Amino acid sequence: MPEPNFTRMFLKMLKPRLPEMLATLRNFVVTESPGLEKTAANRCCDVIAEEWRKRNVRVERLAQKHRGDHLRVTWWPGKMRPAGQLLVLGHYDTVYATGTLAKMPFRVSAGKAYGPGTFDMKAGIVQALFALDALQRTAVLQRKRVVFLWTSDEEINSESSRKLIEAEARRSDAVFVLEPSFGPRGLLKTARKGVGEAEIFVRGRASHAGLAPQEGVNAIHELARQIAKTQEWNDIARGITINAGHIEGGTRTNVIPERARAVLDLRALRIADMQRVMKRLRALRPIVPGARLEVRGGFNRAPLERKMSAALFARAKSLAAQINLSLGECTAGGGSDGNFTAACGVPTLDGLGAVGDGAHSAHEHILVKTMPARAALLAALLHAS
Ligand SMILES: [Zn+2]
Repeated sequence: MPEPNFTRMFLKMLKPRLPEMLATLRNFVVTESPGLEKTAANRCCDVIAEEWRKRNVRVERLAQKHRGDHLRVTWWPGKMRPAGQLLVLGHYDTVYATGTLAKMPFRVSAGKAYGPGTFDMKAGIVQALFALDALQRTAVLQRKRVVFLWTSDEEINSESSRKLIEAEARRSDAVFVLEPSFGPRGLLKTARKGVGEAEIFVRGRASHAGLAPQEGVNAIHELARQIAKTQEWNDIARGITINAGHIEGGTRTNVIPERARAVLDLRALRIADMQRVMKRLRALRPIVPGARLEVRGGFNRAPLERKMSAALFARAKSLAAQINLSLGECTAGGGSDGNFTAACGVPTLDGLGAVGDGAHSAHEHILVKTMPARAALLAALLHAS
């Protein structure tokens, strides 16, 4: 007997609910939630928590000292022990400061919903809510407990949420990340680069450039040579980039500079490449006689390698095909909290959120009519995984 077409069943149930989905999105977006503003973020946390409390789930608010509170929602309908746990991961913080809404209001025009955080990633949270509705209302047999984790600081490095995310991931068999998809076709993100930042500090010796040049050690010269060296490690085809994005040093032109500093953006697609870059950075030694060198920092997020998402993507693709949705994939140059979960060794599929464009920009928007299908796909994944 063929498997029943669950994705189509979920979609059928969700399609008529699009106006409700849009109203919920509006509700989330008009409550601004900048990662750096705790009070504002907490107000948004209230609004999101209220929506989840309407469902038959356990909602826990995890209070934070310096950031908005995190929200953990647990759904397990059965009376027996669940066969495992699935984690649905996302963040409700945005990159926009309070007041952005005045210049960039929530509005719907020509099938697109605009506003700060619509695409990255409040529509993703809405889709998850309705995916849960679909699962609850159809009463299909659910094998695993589902934990939905909505954090408050992804856009500012996830410092307060990282441990929580990793702990929850380790308890899970799979992680579904509701970060935005890519492009108008809504490609999933099956690989993400690892990302980091390193600083190179150089200490030379100051001296008069005209009267006593022989006594100076030029820190800028040393730094320039080190930067030239690091730039040679770039291998765009392999996904390795080292970008010297910020540099400072020296005082006046007639002074041999004593100090110089550069900040490098580091990215790699493979864990082995990340390790190689770190090894090379740590192995840097002074070139200019008398100069001293110090390297700090490194990768903050390891790469999400494609092998960590391959099986989940294949499943998603076949479930999407049940509703004639042809699902594609891409590699993202930036990291997300999915990098953390994949690095814990837990299969992770990212980019399952909204379809749209313009994240972190004035024209951020989602394609409204894609919401029910994406929610249905998530429901199907939670049911089938
Ligand atoms: Zn995001």
